[in-house]
Amino acid sequence: MICRQCGAEISDKAIVCYRCGQATADTAASRAPARRAARLGWAEALTGLLVLIAAALLMSRAAAGQLPAPVSYAVAALAAIVLIWRIARRRRT
Ligand SMILES: [Zn+2]
Repeated sequence: MICRQCGAEISDKAIVCYRCGQATADTAASRAPARRAARLGWAEALTGLLVLIAAALLMSRAAAGQLPAPVSYAVAALAAIVLIWRIARRRRT
């Protein structure tokens, strides 16, 4: 392809122009989803944290005998799922 900035002939697979450093069109397009993924990561971290806090609160209540056992088991399972999900996502990226 031809660099939009300086007109140099660059590889079709090039991320930036070797001559002027201008990012290629493909990179600009692939950068947007990466930014969205970063935002999703924050949302996930926040959700995971809230679920873990809720789980901790419910577990302490369950320990005091204020909640039926199935509810605390469900919350603990949910917290475990969120934790595993976050770890799996972190490994993929
Ligand atoms: Zn260039």
